[in-house]
Amino acid sequence: MIDVKLQSVLSRVYDSDVPARSDLEYLLALEEPSKVAHLFAFADAVRKEHVGDGILLRGIIEFSNHCRNTCLYCGLNRDNSHLERYRLSRWQILQRVEKLVRCGIKTVVLQSGEEDALDPYWFEQLIEEITSKFDIAVTLSVGQKSCREYELWKRAGANRYLLKIETIDPELYASLHPGMSFDNHLRCTFDLQAIGYQTGSGNIVGLRGQTIATLAEDILFFRERDFDMISVGPFIPNRNTALGGRPLGDLGLTLRCMAVTRIVTKNTHIPSNTAIASLAGRDGTIAALQAGANVVMPNFTPEAYRNLYEIYPGKKYITPEESISQIEKIASELTRYLDYNRGDSLKCKKEQATATAEN
Ligand code: SAH
Repeated sequence: MIDVKLQSVLSRVYDSDVPARSDLEYLLALEEPSKVAHLFAFADAVRKEHVGDGILLRGIIEFSNHCRNTCLYCGLNRDNSHLERYRLSRWQILQRVEKLVRCGIKTVVLQSGEEDALDPYWFEQLIEEITSKFDIAVTLSVGQKSCREYELWKRAGANRYLLKIETIDPELYASLHPGMSFDNHLRCTFDLQAIGYQTGSGNIVGLRGQTIATLAEDILFFRERDFDMISVGPFIPNRNTALGGRPLGDLGLTLRCMAVTRIVTKNTHIPSNTAIASLAGRDGTIAALQAGANVVMPNFTPEAYRNLYEIYPGKKYITPEESISQIEKIASELTRYLDYNRGDSLKCKKEQATATAEN
């Protein structure tokens, strides 16, 4: 039976440019299974209408776990003395990029902890080398950097940048990121967008001190900034961090947050991310793909280093080939398909189309 109130909230949220926070809170707080199923079905229909049935692939290479920060939730934080640190060489990274290209993937995500020692010119050369040798999109995810560095790497050929805000609540942000600046995080986000990166943001669901209202604010921020990509993932406690004793983020709430994000932001690329897979395995990946997600990220970090990129525990080792064939199976079960295109931002295309029409 169709719930009249739920249906009218969903239509209102879908139709409005700036949805009411109370409507978002209502959707995020849904508990009754039939209503939650209705929310997911609505999000899935929005996904189908705005990004289609293709599941895009991004190959991720976690090239260093050095970090200067002290994010309370993250195992890479500099105070975690239990972690052996590594940094891949240029050659090692290029080997993995080559492998990813052989697998037919057209986006590489270069991710690391936030290193002071990351030489911007070394990174610039690496990006140049990748983009000159291979016909693929390059996504960077190396944290808060200066505007000049962002510009340098953009000129070298990088196309996209992932920098999750984690939470848009300044006080909550401050409580989780000692010594870091929320304003600087925003500055970085805005710089990336101004420079012309396809920019990704996102949050963690289940953080200490977070509420439904905070999550609704996160989603309003995603809408306001019209991000090209948004990653919503559950909090997974890491025992070598200050939040190691906290409970796991709730998978249901994470999926509702993802579904509402899809409905509000329409054609954004939304990954079924590693945190979801770590928390809930294959079922989690499937659930996310049915609650708004349209991207998956097979891991191409060399096997020897995989365990050392321990942001949180539970990341299962699986070769990229296995991962792709698993996603292929899932896609066919869902009557969807793997999309081997670059999968650039759809927002970008929309803007480019308008610009062309105006010229
Ligand atoms: N240094 C880069 C990459 C960070 S790791 C940066 O700052 O952008 C990528 C993401 O992992 C983070 O943005 C965060 O959202 C997520 N993450 C970190 N610790 C986590 C945890 N314990 N549980 C769930 N997600 C976590």
